[in-house]
Amino acid sequence: MSKEPDHTTEILQAESLYGSGAYKPLEIALVRGEGTRVWDSTGKEYIDCGTGVGVAALGHAHPALVAAISEQIAHLATCVNGYFHNDIRSQFYKALSEISPFDKTKIFISNSGTEAVECALKLARINTVRTDVITALRGFHGRTMGSLSATANPKYKEPFAPLIPGFAHVPYGDIDAIRDAINENTAAIMLEPIQGEAGIYPAPGGYLTAVRELCDQHGILLILDEIQSGMGRTGKWFAAEHDDVVPDIVCLAKALGAGIPVGATLFKESLSFERGQHGSTYGGNPLACRAGLTVIETIANENLLDHIADVGAHFKSGLEAIASSRPEQIGEVRGRGLMLALQLRGRAGKTLSNLMINNVLAVASGSTIIRFLPPYIITKSEVDEVLQRLEDSIE
Ligand SMILES: *Cc1c(COP(=O)(O)O)cnc(C)c1O
Repeated sequence: MSKEPDHTTEILQAESLYGSGAYKPLEIALVRGEGTRVWDSTGKEYIDCGTGVGVAALGHAHPALVAAISEQIAHLATCVNGYFHNDIRSQFYKALSEISPFDKTKIFISNSGTEAVECALKLARINTVRTDVITALRGFHGRTMGSLSATANPKYKEPFAPLIPGFAHVPYGDIDAIRDAINENTAAIMLEPIQGEAGIYPAPGGYLTAVRELCDQHGILLILDEIQSGMGRTGKWFAAEHDDVVPDIVCLAKALGAGIPVGATLFKESLSFERGQHGSTYGGNPLACRAGLTVIETIANENLLDHIADVGAHFKSGLEAIASSRPEQIGEVRGRGLMLALQLRGRAGKTLSNLMINNVLAVASGSTIIRFLPPYIITKSEVDEVLQRLEDSIE
């Protein structure tokens, strides 16, 4: 491994001098990645089980993505949707429609998760001619004003009140609470099939099916926010496939671009925008579309969905073994595929920083949860390494 020159102090100082104040990152600077590994500015190597919160799904610098993006940026990087058609965008639409849960799929491409959610909310209003949306407590849908209104956590939203009216937040997994929250103005119910930011809480068995039925009874649209759980993360293209539930609208981002910013809102054919009702300058640009297209092709070509299910089950049983050997420290293990969490009984900070000292990066959720969102290419022997280092790290 070639050692990078150590500019750590300079980097950290500049970031705290110029940064907006909205972030408080750990005191390391990541400067390079390859496969399942990343390196910091001192040359220290880590197994990356955070992947930028599930973004680097193919690992870092995947050769197929590097080749495709290099070629595309030299070829054509921008082509505004509203004015021109584009070959790569057409191929990306086709690839998305082939993995989509709908018989016939419509697609709006954007640049982030929160934009994918904004698009879904606008679609729901315009197509139902109603305004209200039911979402879940503990849910997370983004930071812009619409998606923030949909997010329940008062810590994120209270400073920005008044937000958009008409959002009701109900306990996740409680079908009666949804039934009680429905009114004649309910346009949509929006849920994550697995609540990600909250700390990996999968929908209880039968919940999504029951929500689907309620939506059908009341002519309400079901929006699934699969920004963290989708694009293969759980071993299927969409986490809701495990429950055989088909939404009306599905939101994607994170793993979709695997490092290039891409968001997408997929919806059933009976919904639509009229010309001019939505738009994005960057959204659907050929560079981003090429990234998304390459991600879908690579997941398919490398048979990664089966691998994710297999290596994910191995990871989960390893976490469960650690949990059962340390019942006084660990509460439970949650999740599916490569979207896993360890619920600690005490605070997670020390274990996370020990993990980092032991060359593994993971993601905190709240103050007591450690999330693992490794790249889809992680092997069982790498997982074993992570598990060993985790054992060494638990306080
Ligand atoms: C990350 C995330 C978002 C927001 O995505 P951004 O790209 O940060 O805007 C929305 N919903 C879920 C479920 C997420 O995990």
